[in-house]
Amino acid sequence: MKNVVIIGTGPAGLTAAIYAARAELEPIVLTGDTPGGQVTITETLDNFPGFPDGISGFELFQNLKKQAERFGAKLVSETAISVDFSKQPLTVKTRTGEYETKTVIISTGSDPRKLNVPGETENVGKGVSYCATCDGFFFRDKEVVVVGGGDSAVEEALFLTKFASKVSIIHRRDRLRAGAHLQSRAEENEKIDFVWNSVVTEVLADETTGVNGVKLKNVKTEEESVIKTDGIFIFIGHIPNTEIFKDKIDFDESGIIVTDSRQKTNVPGVFAAGDVQDNIYRQAVTSAGAGAAAAMEAEKFIAEMEGTSYPGKM
Ligand code: NAP
Repeated sequence: MKNVVIIGTGPAGLTAAIYAARAELEPIVLTGDTPGGQVTITETLDNFPGFPDGISGFELFQNLKKQAERFGAKLVSETAISVDFSKQPLTVKTRTGEYETKTVIISTGSDPRKLNVPGETENVGKGVSYCATCDGFFFRDKEVVVVGGGDSAVEEALFLTKFASKVSIIHRRDRLRAGAHLQSRAEENEKIDFVWNSVVTEVLADETTGVNGVKLKNVKTEEESVIKTDGIFIFIGHIPNTEIFKDKIDFDESGIIVTDSRQKTNVPGVFAAGDVQDNIYRQAVTSAGAGAAAAMEAEKFIAEMEGTSYPGKM
């Protein structure tokens, strides 16, 4: 019987692991299929406190992992495939085994949202990408398009100008959602241009050489056009990884897990932190904060369940 099983190793899960380990709860941390999650594909985090010169997402992941392990958290390369939250002990099943546990912290993060247009899935790795940090390098002196109008799209478009000769941002409206600072940096960058009021309806590609264009539709005029491009980078938001929790806990209409201000889900002993329960801030630092709170709440829950006193002040 475990005290706490943490599912996911992004900033939320690993910070929960640091706090739970320091509380001597000997947490088990399931790394899942993509250890570190979304943060590891971020080139540089310039806004994580304590790193005045920025830190790469991968390095942050390595540091958090090392810190959690220093206090005794056990990271296992397993993926949760189902859960039973109907009774105590709670159960988390993986492909190779099963954990019985008093508490669970869900920090499974989210995955990039897809356009769901013809030519997209078939050409991932052949010119379709959801990660500029991973694939930007392959587009040196080439022309690429970026889809989306939020902070991610603009930030990644700016990053891509390091390699590409031209970056066209295709957005479905006539105004960016991205913050003012990023907007003006993009507007001032001579490698970036904008295609407004347009959606991608098809990714065009050659079977051997990969992507060579995108078909667009102007949403105002319905006019169709084709832009030649060597690559398409898609940044249109994320979908939380909640598949295995369907019908086990409460979600809101946007698909994220509902928690109260103390990271508690509707199931006693089950907490959630990070992108899987937050679609407002979605920052590494806010996820880390939520992970810390979830671990402290798990400690308190266990103390109450066992009739011992919680050493903290909550
Ligand atoms: P987002 O803010 O949700 O933006 C998604 C963008 O994609 C929007 O412009 C949206 O258009 C567009 N979009 C959504 N579905 C689409 C579809 N099917 N077809 C075409 N376009 C579509 O997502 P995000 O940029 O990933 O950012 C998520 C959160 O992380 C935000 O809170 C953001 O502030 C934060 N973030 C912060 C930083 C930073 O601080 N440096 C960096 C990255 C992300 P509409 O505008 O028309 O809705």
